[in-house]
Amino acid sequence: MLTNHAPSTGVLHRSLSHVYPVAASGEGLFIRDEEGRAYLDACGGAAVSCLGHGHPEVLAAMHAQLDALAYAHTSFFTTRVAEELADHMIARAPASMSHVYFVSGGSEAIEAALKMARQYFVEIGQPERARFVARRQSYHGNTLGALAVGGNEWRRRQFAPLLVETHHVSPTYDYRDRAPGETPEAYGERLARELEDTLLALGPQTVIAFVAETVGGATSGALTPPPGYLARVREICDRYGVLLILDEVMCGMGRTGTLHACAQEGVAPDLMAVAKGMGGGFAPIGGVYVSAAIVDAFRRGSGLFQHGHTYLGHALACAGALAVQRIIERDGLLDNVVAMGERLSERLAARFGEHPHIGDIRGRGLFQAIELVADRGTKAPFDPAAKLHARIKAQAMARRLMVYPMGGTIDGARGDHVLLAPPYIVRAEDIDTIVDSLGQAVDAAIASVG
Ligand code: PLP
Repeated sequence: MLTNHAPSTGVLHRSLSHVYPVAASGEGLFIRDEEGRAYLDACGGAAVSCLGHGHPEVLAAMHAQLDALAYAHTSFFTTRVAEELADHMIARAPASMSHVYFVSGGSEAIEAALKMARQYFVEIGQPERARFVARRQSYHGNTLGALAVGGNEWRRRQFAPLLVETHHVSPTYDYRDRAPGETPEAYGERLARELEDTLLALGPQTVIAFVAETVGGATSGALTPPPGYLARVREICDRYGVLLILDEVMCGMGRTGTLHACAQEGVAPDLMAVAKGMGGGFAPIGGVYVSAAIVDAFRRGSGLFQHGHTYLGHALACAGALAVQRIIERDGLLDNVVAMGERLSERLAARFGEHPHIGDIRGRGLFQAIELVADRGTKAPFDPAAKLHARIKAQAMARRLMVYPMGGTIDGARGDHVLLAPPYIVRAEDIDTIVDSLGQAVDAAIASVG
């Protein structure tokens, strides 16, 4: 059992009181700890492990790269593997994208995207653009720029004095915010108008970019855009010369059934951040897709993007990501994401559709969530003090199931949800096991609240 006292450790863990099992090995859908217990990974950690664990071909590609060259600083060299990864990604990107900037994770990708957007306007002679608009209940990472655009109140609060100016509009939260009788299309239009009104109030010529997750992830759990919403957002951004930055760190690289979630909306951003499923957890890597117009502005202006990290384009990480991306395509895994996503929604509907404490089931592909409520009629959440999300996680881990529960679903303080993001290699019988075990964990957690 997991204990609740901390043994002596030199690692500053995420929680100073929790004792973590020691992960020792991984294979397919499972992570095994040092005691030999195997955990079914139904969330890819945090929607990372898209090929599962220990994929032999990814490991072989990484071993080969290691034998040749692990690392060469990008101020001296490029590497063949980084060039091939960029070619692979650009060939499958929205048509407007001409380059990829390789970093080491999602926060770094967002940070770079924000700076690219700002530099773009400096280069083209609009330096008065100095603020961002983003959405409440979003998550874009924990570095200061990413935290500033993020809309999770709990994460931002104590760091607020350090954050760049960002104005937040409403999330796309159909379950709670679509008015009775309002169609999804009208709801999307209302949200788009809110964005336009915000830009007009700020003075659109002062705004750098609108930043949004195509499908919302960690903070509120798989919030999907209403039909037509993102297309209207694109129009509004274009009307006022504001850039559109999409964050597909969690929902992208195949997780929702298409390589890029924005393809399902028929929308192409100016900058797009990816990470997580890009490298599948085999190495820390992320990227920013950059549109040709932005690269051209840099080329005609200062001739560089004024940024950089020591580990940009790390050769070993690029080798892992290239292997992951090639395997996803070769094995037709996005078809499996769609098929298993359908099975997951059916199974979730069967298990939780009439559950007295599940208010909503939502998401796309292998990116789905359930939202917990104390009362289905009023949609009242559980008392945040009960930390239902943490109880569900503990109950799931006790059943050797990894899921991704989170509190603060509604406003950063109230509400609980559980996010599921299994690897793209998941099979029908695994989906059934995941939903069965999750059902048991949810019921046991709720019973423990009393
Ligand atoms: N953007 C989104 C949508 C995310 O979900 C995350 C992480 O969960 C990030 C950015 C930050 O990525 P990282 O944790 O790799 O820095």
